[in-house]
Amino acid sequence: MSTASSPQHRSADGLAGAASVVIEGLHKSYGPLEVLKGISLSVGAGQVVCLIGPSGSGKSTLLRCVNLLERPQQGRITIGDFDVTDPEADVDRMRRHVGMVFQQFNLFPHLSVLENCTVAQVKVLKRDKAEAERIARANLDRVGLSEKADSHPGQLSGGQQQRVAIARALSMDPSLMLFDEPTSALDPETVGDVLSIMRDLAAEGMTMLVVTHEMEFARDVADKVVFMDGGVVVEEGPAAQVIGAPKEPRTQSFLSRVL
Ligand code: ADP
Ligand code: MG
Repeated sequence: MSTASSPQHRSADGLAGAASVVIEGLHKSYGPLEVLKGISLSVGAGQVVCLIGPSGSGKSTLLRCVNLLERPQQGRITIGDFDVTDPEADVDRMRRHVGMVFQQFNLFPHLSVLENCTVAQVKVLKRDKAEAERIARANLDRVGLSEKADSHPGQLSGGQQQRVAIARALSMDPSLMLFDEPTSALDPETVGDVLSIMRDLAAEGMTMLVVTHEMEFARDVADKVVFMDGGVVVEEGPAAQVIGAPKEPRTQSFLSRVL
């Protein structure tokens, strides 16, 4: 399903609507430590790809390369028809279209929930305050938190803070959402609310690249599951295959530990 023409996903300058992601031959080292050793993977427009793998395998680094929080030494990343790794690329323009949700929420503690969801809209997208607030309230409503607009992050549970982080990202009309273990820091009873919002987003046709240990979510929602270990893609395919009947011993051993 494509929602490219829906107001929620529309944007003004070319990278509009749900975008595909193509990663080719990506290498990233920190000094002598080679963390990504030639990663290739793709996410179709409107698709959900879940990235799984042991701690230290390079999942966060890969996600951070996609929006250039880290710069890879080699390889190519395109989002839609936008070449992110082109040295001439307009990084700010690209980031406007990529929403990122982290394990630790990263909300601004001194701002209200509403302000958290409007500040980038006003600063980066140059929306006027009233318009930004309208959009923020619509997205807070979408994540079930309209009544918390005037609270501060510290007054919310972890799950509520993560829902605000999602509303904040959605308020920028992203063409792509990156999630890095969005439920790993949450109390078990709040995990379900966050996953259910992510399920809705997937059903609405958002392109999503999700690092997660939630195998049930991956099995239900992912169009493709990618298993990474030691900086390489070991195995990828439909969830039923990679999680249900993994071929590679490293995948089998990982799954036997997390399932
Ligand atoms: P994952 O998300 O799969 O747990 P990461 O991408 O966070 O893996 O980390 C992969 C490897 O890269 C780890 O060995 C980690 O210590 C190392 N690493 C990550 N970020 C940095 C950094 N900024 N500087 C040096 N080493 C890093
Ligand atoms: Mg990580």
